[in-house]
Amino acid sequence: MNLQKLRKLVECLRLQDAENPSAIEETLRLNISLEDGYCLFNLYEQWLGAFSFLPGRKEAVLPLLSLAEKLTKFSSDDTLAMYSLSEWQQLVLLRGPVETVLFEKCTNCSHSYVSMGTSGFYDANGLVCDSCGNVYFKSYYDETPPPRCACGREFPSVTTYGCRQCGEKKSLSQGGVSPYEYFSKHTYIRGPGA
Ligand SMILES: [Zn+2]
Ligand SMILES: [Zn+2]
Repeated sequence: MNLQKLRKLVECLRLQDAENPSAIEETLRLNISLEDGYCLFNLYEQWLGAFSFLPGRKEAVLPLLSLAEKLTKFSSDDTLAMYSLSEWQQLVLLRGPVETVLFEKCTNCSHSYVSMGTSGFYDANGLVCDSCGNVYFKSYYDETPPPRCACGREFPSVTTYGCRQCGEKKSLSQGGVSPYEYFSKHTYIRGPGA
């Protein structure tokens, strides 16, 4: 692990916690890559996700800082040990069990919709409410129907893959946003086992 960059990241996060206006720019300048270590890079990616938009998720600063401080005492570059820390769980709460949120446009009817890009290790579908964009995560093994969304609309069924309007599977990507950003404006519920 690149200890020099890790220590700089700790300093930057302390500055950000103290609401120093140059903190974000200095953190961006660190430009941490995979070669600097898996834990450090993963942590930095969380920071990028949480602050790639304005005003960012300020609630992420303290767990990020605490994780960075703990990483300075890690004896090996052990990502699983990092993921098991409670601060990591706090970050997951902020972004949901999602890697990226994708905007798609149907190639047939041009309907736009949102899809949840989850890790291949996550055995659940992210069902996005067509009306308000809130999300229900439904485990592959859960047989019970999802509850109604808080807005009153039903969540789409897990079999509705692709366009909600016409059923077309092909879509054009319209880019994506960080789940930290998406879930600053939408809520999610994890169903049983998800
Ligand atoms: Zn809704
Ligand atoms: Zn369509």
